[in-house]
Parts: sequence; structure tokens; C-alpha cells
Amino acid sequence: MKAAVVRAFGEPLVIEERPDPEPGPGQVRVRVEASGLCHTDIHAAHGDWPVKPTPPFVPGHEGVGLVEKLGEGVTHLSVGQRVAVPWLGRACGRCEHCLSGWETLCEQQVNTGYGCDGGYAEKMLAWADFAQPVPEGVTAFEAAPLACAGVTTYKALKVADIKPAQLVAISGVGGLGHLALQYAKIAGATVAAIDVTDDKLQLATELGADIVIDARKQDAGKELKEHGGAHAAIALAVNPAAFEAVNSGLRRGGKLVMVALPAHGTIQVPIFDTVLNGTSVIGSIVGTRQDLAEVFQLHAAGRTKVIYETRPLVSVNESIDAVLRGEIKARVVFDLGAGR
Ligand code: NAD
Ligand code: ZN
Ligand code: ZN
Repeated sequence: MKAAVVRAFGEPLVIEERPDPEPGPGQVRVRVEASGLCHTDIHAAHGDWPVKPTPPFVPGHEGVGLVEKLGEGVTHLSVGQRVAVPWLGRACGRCEHCLSGWETLCEQQVNTGYGCDGGYAEKMLAWADFAQPVPEGVTAFEAAPLACAGVTTYKALKVADIKPAQLVAISGVGGLGHLALQYAKIAGATVAAIDVTDDKLQLATELGADIVIDARKQDAGKELKEHGGAHAAIALAVNPAAFEAVNSGLRRGGKLVMVALPAHGTIQVPIFDTVLNGTSVIGSIVGTRQDLAEVFQLHAAGRTKVIYETRPLVSVNESIDAVLRGEIKARVVFDLGAGR
């Protein structure tokens, strides 16, 4: 089987021929149909974060495909069933976090495409208990971005505790942001979308943004304040200055939800304003299996739209460059050809 491999940080990925991986106890082998390119995969390939993966590794945590082989003890999945293999590859199931509905905070977790090989491959392994069944009516190409971009922003909006009639700022209308915007609308909020490319601003308008802010020309904080200030701002742009801009545009009691993970990212949080205005800064990491089930359910019901372009896996390096240049409308999904 073919896989795109990070051999060294910052170097182009290499397409390698590898033997099919053998599922161990509790695992399944998936024949990958579609695999999304999340900006996290670029951070992984560049070694951007304090906790780094170990090359060589196969990135990708938006892999979707058909179960092809069951490991020992797997009884609840069947061969031929479509599953998604998200970032949360496995968690312990026993710790305080796992037992309280916060498996995403489990300290024993293994992350797909980071702590084990991921979805940039024709075949991949998944822990059966964390492979998410994809319902009828959701294609592999739509399920792929939903498996990370979707679940992460759906969860971030839950964390922000959005109510109808509130103003929500979506900073960055890329892979994550185009879905965040739709979940905020579903929650009943008024949405201010912020980006720095014409295409993304256009996309935000098409997806129903009520206010569109061009951060190249406008001060996002000031614009939000002119609308009364945001009850919540979801920071999805890979740029610390964009976090600070929306933080300054919160209304009293507002919440900044940090989701993007720029390399060496730090921001200045003014103590006086934070205390006097009673604002909060919250981190939000992906979502649980239940969150992903809800994301798939919403999509199957026709309530969300996934914007993507398909490309072959051999285009992986050009595709990464295109994401970094901001030339992708929302998500690249690699077509692994398994569906044909
Ligand atoms: P993306 O590249 O598809 O989207 C980023 C968007 O931000 C683009 O539309 C870009 O034009 C826009 N942008 C850039 N500079 C801006 C600025 N100054 N102001 C406003 N918008 C700006 O990336 P993505 O796949 O959506 O991922 C975004 C980030 O989220 C990455 O850092 C990724 O690692 C992170 N992420 C975090 C989680 C989590 O669980 N916390 C999960 C997935 C991804
Ligand atoms: Zn991701
Ligand atoms: Zn745990």
C-alpha cells in the first residue's frame, strides 16, 4: 500500500510503498477512501509544537474508509462498514477525564497521524472503540473534514455555550472556520466572520455570515465592538495577532475560545481589561466520540455543507503549499481511490 511519510521535519513528504498494516487486538484495518488535510498535519510535518511526533510517520486524522479486517476481539464493527478515524485514536477509558465525558483530555491518549500512523495512506489501522461509524447519507469525502474540522468547531461552540441572539466571531474561515460558522448559525447566533482572503470572505457570505470583516483592512476588535462586542470569539486563524484582535472585541463577560495552534504561539492578555470586563480565555481540543456522532447526525439531516476539493495523495506537498498560501477554498480531501 502507498503512504505519504514525513521522514524529517520541514522536508517534503515522501510517497512510500509499505506492507499492509496488521490489526492487533481491538484494532481494525481500514481501506481509506478519503483523507482530509487539516492544518494540524502541516504543524506535525514541520515539528511546530512543543510535543513532537517521531519521524518517520504518516500524518492524517481525517481518514475515512471501509473496514477491511477485524483484529482479535472486535465484535461491534463489520467488514465493509464505513468509519472515520479521528485525532483521538484511543483514550484509556478509566481516568477522571475519560469517566467524566472529557476523553479528549485523557493523558494516555494516542493521536492519529501524530502518535501513530494516520490517514495519508491507502490502508490504516484504527482502534475499533474510537473508529466512528459514518451514517448512511454522509459520503466519505464529506465525512473526512467533519472528523476533525467539524467535531473540533462543534465542540468549541459547545464550550462557548452559545445562545440564540448572541454575537459570535469566527476568526479564520478555512477548513475549521467554514464549519464553525454553520454550527454558530445552527445555534441561532449572529455570526461575524473574519478572514484575510477574498475567497474566504466570499465563502463566509455564501454560508450565511451576518457580518464579514476583512482583517487586512479592518481592525477586527474595533468592528466587533461597534456591533456591541462578541459574546464569544472562536480563534481559528493560525496567527497570534488574530487571537489578540478578537480578544479585544469581546463584550463584557465574553469568551475567547482558543483552537488554532500557531507555532510558538503566545498572546498578550491585558490583565486590567480581563478582570474589569470579566472575560475568559478557554482552550478547546477536538471533540469526543459523542460530539462526532452529533456532527455526523447534523450532516446526514442536511443541516451542514462541507466545502472541499479532491486531490490525489501524490499532490500532498503541493497541497500543503496551497493551504499555506491560502489558496484552498476550505478543505483538501485526498482521494485514495478505495471507493472505486
Ligand atoms: P486553514 O489553513 O484551513 O484555515 C485558517 C484560516 O485562517 C484561513 O482561511 C486563513 O485565510 C485565515 N487567516 C489567516 N490569517 C488570518 C488573520 N490574521 N485573521 C483572520 N483569518 C486569518 O486551517 P484549519 O485546518 O482550519 O486549522 C486552523 C488551526 O486550527 C490550525 O492551527 C490547526 O492546527 C488548528 N486545529 C486545532 C484543533 C483543536 O482541537 N484545537 C483541531 C484542528 C485544527
Ligand atoms: Zn485536525
Ligand atoms: Zn483516560
